[in-house]
Amino acid sequence: MKRIDCFKVMAELAGDALVVTGAGANTVEWYACRPGDGNFRVRTMGLVSSIALGMALGLPHRQVIAIDGDGSLLMNLCSLPTIARKNPPNLVHVLVDNEVYEASGEIDTATGAGTDLVAVARGAGIRRASWVNSPDEMRTVFSEALEARDATFIGLKVERARSEVPPYPMDEVENKYRFIRHVEQTEGLSILSAHMPASFLKDS
Ligand SMILES: [Mg+2]
Repeated sequence: MKRIDCFKVMAELAGDALVVTGAGANTVEWYACRPGDGNFRVRTMGLVSSIALGMALGLPHRQVIAIDGDGSLLMNLCSLPTIARKNPPNLVHVLVDNEVYEASGEIDTATGAGTDLVAVARGAGIRRASWVNSPDEMRTVFSEALEARDATFIGLKVERARSEVPPYPMDEVENKYRFIRHVEQTEGLSILSAHMPASFLKDS
């Protein structure tokens, strides 16, 4: 199974969900399927699920999707019991498991040696956790996840090969500001503002 075929299904269904991705190919292939400023690329390896959890808790009426890698999640397994404990119904955590640290030189991860991250998620207490084996099955499981009253974990076993897509069009700094402005505009929030010195206020 190719990850991009599942991403195409997700993009059809995701609406205006905020989507958090990691440093590697997941980001560019997802962006090719659903471009826009509602996508946030996390450059700190491992933190996709934790940052997505924070967004889901902070914006409980907004759908949040984490697109994680096996290497990334293995680095931050402690996010799973925290997600289980907080159980935000608006969070879907999608694991793209190609059994390799792809972005850092094709070194095998533990999932190729038998670690089952869906079983780990279930063991952490995430009740809605399952493997998906085809894009058609993804359509069903992902649709149900968007409607679910619990957090959902979906595991995808995918080929190691990347799909041909354009490069990500911005660096992490531009991505951060564009994403935050997108959240401000779509949520009616003020998140970032510049504080002027008191002398400026006095003169104005
Ligand atoms: Mg990987």
